[in-house]
Amino acid sequence: MLPVALVAVVAVLWWLCSSWREAVSGRIAAVLPGVRAPLLLIAHPDDECMFFAPTILGLVQGQRPLSVLCCCTGNYYNQGETRKKELFRSCAALGIAPSNVTLIDHSDLPDSPTVKWDERLLSSLILNHIQEKNIDLVITFDEGGVSGHSNHISLYHAVRSLHSSGKLPEAVSKASQPANHYPARY
Ligand SMILES: [Zn+2]
Repeated sequence: MLPVALVAVVAVLWWLCSSWREAVSGRIAAVLPGVRAPLLLIAHPDDECMFFAPTILGLVQGQRPLSVLCCCTGNYYNQGETRKKELFRSCAALGIAPSNVTLIDHSDLPDSPTVKWDERLLSSLILNHIQEKNIDLVITFDEGGVSGHSNHISLYHAVRSLHSSGKLPEAVSKASQPANHYPARY
């Protein structure tokens, strides 16, 4: 009797996971028609799977060549080198090729929950990446950083600053609306 119950539980869980992934994928496709080159902008290795996994799976399922820009190595506990490798492995597991993952290792962008990153420096690095990769959509944290982490919140302010100052390419400005329009938070 127990094996039958276990099989039933696994079947229900599998069905729930499939339905959830399909719902996210359909929602993203509806919200982002015409997007060719989306960028996921994160602060630390592990943000991609902790906060954005359904979004990533939806975009990858929709055959969009998603790229990832991670703005520090996640060295708060002196494990930056390990976490760098984990980022690339995690992205590969989510369907993102290593060539589409970029990691910034800059001494002025430390991994710290209490450090607000310099907006000018951060904005400049993000804009360079957007222009270099012809990005037409940026997905990142909302103004609360989802978890309240200062580094996450810094990304929100940097993108908002680029948007409000008119520095973003037109295609990005059209598609990357403020936080409430991002399909990135759940
Ligand atoms: Zn983080």
